[in-house]
Amino acid sequence: MTLSIKGIAASRGIAIGHAYKLERGRPEVAEACIHKNDINNEILRLKLALEKEKKQLRNIRNKIPAATPSNIAEFIDTHLLMLNDSALSEAPIRIIKENCCTAEWALKLQLDALVSIFDEMDDQYLKTRRDDVIHVVSRILRLLTGEEASVYDDTGILNNKIIIADDLTPADIVLMQHHGVIGFITESGGPLSHAAIISRSLKLPAIVGVHQAKKYLINNDHIIIDGESGTVLIAPDINTEIFYRHEQKRLQQYYASLSSLKKEPAVSLDNINIHLFANAELTEDMNSVNENNVDGIGLYRTEFLFMNRENTPDEEEQYQALLNIITAMNGKPVTIRTLDLGADKPLKSIQYGENPANPALGLRAIRLCLSTPDLFRPQLRAILRASAKGNVRIMIPMLSNIQEVSQVFEIIKDIKQELSQEGLDYDDRIPVGGMIEVPAAAISAYLFAKHLDFLSIGTNDLIQYTLAIDRIDEEVNYLYSPCHPSVLRLIHQVIKAGNRAGIPVAMCGEMAGDPIYTRLLLGLGLREFSMQINTVQEVKNIVNNSLVHRLVRPARSILMCDHAEDALEKIKNLNNQIHLQ
Ligand code: PEP
Ligand code: MG
Repeated sequence: MTLSIKGIAASRGIAIGHAYKLERGRPEVAEACIHKNDINNEILRLKLALEKEKKQLRNIRNKIPAATPSNIAEFIDTHLLMLNDSALSEAPIRIIKENCCTAEWALKLQLDALVSIFDEMDDQYLKTRRDDVIHVVSRILRLLTGEEASVYDDTGILNNKIIIADDLTPADIVLMQHHGVIGFITESGGPLSHAAIISRSLKLPAIVGVHQAKKYLINNDHIIIDGESGTVLIAPDINTEIFYRHEQKRLQQYYASLSSLKKEPAVSLDNINIHLFANAELTEDMNSVNENNVDGIGLYRTEFLFMNRENTPDEEEQYQALLNIITAMNGKPVTIRTLDLGADKPLKSIQYGENPANPALGLRAIRLCLSTPDLFRPQLRAILRASAKGNVRIMIPMLSNIQEVSQVFEIIKDIKQELSQEGLDYDDRIPVGGMIEVPAAAISAYLFAKHLDFLSIGTNDLIQYTLAIDRIDEEVNYLYSPCHPSVLRLIHQVIKAGNRAGIPVAMCGEMAGDPIYTRLLLGLGLREFSMQINTVQEVKNIVNNSLVHRLVRPARSILMCDHAEDALEKIKNLNNQIHLQ
């Protein structure tokens, strides 16, 4: 009999194979004392394990496929930085010397100390860092005990397996994919957890938050995972398996057919041009952006230039980084978002106020920039100077108040004068737009539309702020729903406000790149979508197979749904109306 268990759909696709349980929560370590004469030996063991882990992580980083979004490399870089931090590279050595204990025990004591510090913090972002520390230390412990090697060294053991684990690190996922793993099930995590993001980027089917998966599954169980519905089927009967194999083949053919779309424009069956833009973070993203033939960059996240370093980049460094992007885009528009630091993207070198209780509601994004001219002015100078060399647009994040727009305009005016006096070029007509990601801004979008040159809907934050759900809090992310009636209505309101004012409205949150919502958004009037590069062709395929004018009525009827579940059901019906895949 087929048994099915449910989790949270994290990465679409179907995997059929045998289960491999990764029995490794936090490795158990027993207290073990050593003789004084062995202290140097233990220190050496620890240093070798740290070096080996660094080497492995660097290797993993090199194995990340070129077309993968840069956020994957960012996760790995964070772990590499942690390995170099004195909390891991020096403190355990001190503990070995002081306590005459093994490297494993010293690491365990240090991990417990670090975790208890993190546990005392309320900040959700720091909580994810706590998990990072646990991941990193657990990997070193496994290297010391030889446990890690057994999984990866036994060639073939992971081939065609579906991994069942408590949780997985970004490094685990990249490495396991290279060892032939075809899918993942984790007991913890949500749709925005690291494991989910990485699996989506690598196009590996994954289901997260499957409580007690390790209890229900045993090694070598024959299973199917459906990453679209979040279902795990254990010991499927023959008919079920035939059905899923057929589905799997159809999906594989569908994905393969998408690459032929790269050269095609995005035009609906009723001849409406749709603009597809890429979200980008680093210069390295540019190759795959160009390969996918997009209309430009709809969101360039400048904060990545500031992260993972001690100091802040000066105007010249920012200018050079922007030039790289602008040159690579060769005349296509590049929308540069001004710094969105704070909350889930804090910087060591910046003060965000006295321990804010709610960083996401605090000094973040444009609020932080307006209160820190030393941060904001060099960035605006760099953007304005770069605007002389290409097609540049400025985009302001997290607007909630029209005065913020006036203040930014004043500063831009001032900087333009400054640059003119210095004899430096800039585009005097540089478009300035704003991100609509706070309900207040969405409700008063008509006001923002009067003053700005374009709007872009940041659904990641708009959903978080509308539904009062911290986007990285695992306890509540089951409530995170793009289909909530309030979210859909706000999106519609913003599009209408932009249309009335005659300015373009784009969407640059994750929702824009999720093909489930493409038809709905077209029906609601959206004409510009900005997304992770690896979803562009899939969204284009839907655009090119849709009659936009026929989507308007069903989209409006979806707005009338009482529940997110009903809305999602109707969206799926809309997507099935003309068979796309
Ligand atoms: C958003 O909030 O939708 C967005 C694109 O910004 P970020 O995810 O960088 O906060
Ligand atoms: Mg945002």
